[in-house]
Amino acid sequence: MPKYVVVTGGVLSGLGKGIITSSIALLLKSRGYTVTAIKIDPYLNCDAGTMNPFQHGEVFVLEDGGEVDLDLGNYERFLDINLSRENNITTGKVYKNVIEKERRGDYLGKTVQIVPHITDEIKGWIRRVAEGSGADICVVEIGGTVGDIESMPFLEAVRQLHLEEGRENVVFIHTTLVPILRVVGEQKTKPTQHSVKELRAIGIDPDIIVGRSTKRLSKEVKEKISLFCNVDKEAVFSSPDAEYIYEVPLILEEQGISKYVLKLLNLPYKEAELSEWKKFVERIKKAKREVSIAIVGKYTALGDSYLSILEAFCHAGAEFDVKVHVIWVEAEDLEAGNFSMLEKVHAILVPGGFGERGAEGKIKAIEFARKNKMPFLGICFGFQLAVVEYGRNVLGLECHSTEVKPNVKHPIITILPEQYGVQQLGGTMRLGAQPILIKEGTLAYELYKSTKIYERHRHRYEVNPKYIDELEKNGLIFSGIAEDRIRMEILELPEHPYFIASQFHPEFKSRPLKPAPLFYGFVKAAVDEKYH
Ligand code: GLN
Repeated sequence: MPKYVVVTGGVLSGLGKGIITSSIALLLKSRGYTVTAIKIDPYLNCDAGTMNPFQHGEVFVLEDGGEVDLDLGNYERFLDINLSRENNITTGKVYKNVIEKERRGDYLGKTVQIVPHITDEIKGWIRRVAEGSGADICVVEIGGTVGDIESMPFLEAVRQLHLEEGRENVVFIHTTLVPILRVVGEQKTKPTQHSVKELRAIGIDPDIIVGRSTKRLSKEVKEKISLFCNVDKEAVFSSPDAEYIYEVPLILEEQGISKYVLKLLNLPYKEAELSEWKKFVERIKKAKREVSIAIVGKYTALGDSYLSILEAFCHAGAEFDVKVHVIWVEAEDLEAGNFSMLEKVHAILVPGGFGERGAEGKIKAIEFARKNKMPFLGICFGFQLAVVEYGRNVLGLECHSTEVKPNVKHPIITILPEQYGVQQLGGTMRLGAQPILIKEGTLAYELYKSTKIYERHRHRYEVNPKYIDELEKNGLIFSGIAEDRIRMEILELPEHPYFIASQFHPEFKSRPLKPAPLFYGFVKAAVDEKYH
């Protein structure tokens, strides 16, 4: 039977609870245990797919096509495993199941209530995922902050889980903020005390407290938290601001967190094996060189909207001892024809996106990269717009994607046939891992070293097959195609040092120590651009 580590958050959101959860999961794995992770999001959406990335950060896509919270991306990157849509539980999913059961008559004769029906559904779901994964330990992160109305049923469910599984099988970790008051320069524990009190009122006694602060918690502050929050002295851990998220596990491990969790779970002690991780962190921290890469997008004010891209840069950068300095470029700002921002960088990335706003600016950025032989990577919408740019400026066609211009003369990007008549927008795109055939002798083959790959998708539009011949006759190469041989997946320009774009999202599969091939090649090309 799996054991559980439940992570809750107090004081305020945005503390980096997801990174702390991922770190603990990684540390337990490093001690020879198999680990899986569940994220609970207390919102009513069934999944993250219908949410604006500007509000909630990037929509992460899993192998099975689940559109999930970006924390699942962190779990995958830290644990180096693939998760499923079942690993992300939302209020919407839980209620949907319960209401469907009620309509089917599964609760016939009963009054259906939050306790026990919703809480049973939540517990059942957690156990199903944990047991189904075969993992020794399942880490469960509860989104939101203790005290929110929305998260109440989930906290009640994990309280019951603890009661039913026994204290040796469920550990509670509470993460809180320990602010430093500027005037006195002192770390204040009161918000932590209040949030633990709140948690206790719900019936949960935390076993471990992780204090987020700009600096490490002093010995006195740890002791104070221990005393006032009624946890062991060794149970208070410090998570100071770190330059790289990948340092967080090492900082927590120095203080002995995983050993302590194993003790609470009554699991045998095993040595930690973190040497590869440590080497990776050292490489990214010590990198002396730097390249600047422009991301030309729409939600550039919030880095979380493109989180996996930033992580993929970090993974690829580590391979070349280089830091990638991202220059955010609002696509709309390029529409007036001022490219000064792009002149300063060593490479240009046009990420995924939707809708009309900014599309023309992105096309201009692609034209700039193509003509100036500047390394270019296009992802999904960036791939589609690279086709539009080529259609317009090389083939001379008045063309666009029908997503942006439905009645355009040459619909060079058009809706996927299976999307005709789709009314419901949630979870209906072409999603998840799909096989792609790679042509030998191409840049794509050089990067992937394979003729068949699997990459993750999230789109409704594609290259219109009617234009493929003409595009290829004019120098564009489709080096990756779907198995049906109709759907185009990768394009490249052989005359250019690095001009490649994919219909899929390579960033979702990039991992520390295993950078995504398209990012590896892209960062290398940026380094060549600057240093050779
Ligand atoms: N809007 C485009 C489509 O639906 C691209 C989507 C994306 O970039 N993820 O096909």
